[in-house]
Amino acid sequence: MGPHEVVGVDVRGNQIMAHAFRGRDDRLFAMLGVMTPCCGASGKGLMDEPSGQGFIGCRKCYSEVDPLHGDAWTWDEDLDAPVKWDRIARDLFDGNLEKVAGVAQSVKALMDRAEQRGI
Ligand SMILES: [Zn+2]
Repeated sequence: MGPHEVVGVDVRGNQIMAHAFRGRDDRLFAMLGVMTPCCGASGKGLMDEPSGQGFIGCRKCYSEVDPLHGDAWTWDEDLDAPVKWDRIARDLFDGNLEKVAGVAQSVKALMDRAEQRGI
């Protein structure tokens, strides 16, 4: 896995973590995820043993969290800003593109470092 760091905070106050890595076509991109409010960890799919019901839980404490924490957002530098920001703005910033611009600089710096390291 490539470099990763917190690049901002969403409208709910949860940390946004970005991981930089290279895709199969050798393009560099980043995946953004929203950390859990309880532990600042990522979310994952879990199963409630007695009922057999699946849910999204905190990777650290296993309590149920908003399904948002099990999701991921792709940040592709080859796409124009409005395209690559649209889904992130809608899901994480109540549609506010200016707030996405606030994390763009941090994501760009992360990807520049990934490029220099040759991941
Ligand atoms: Zn937790």
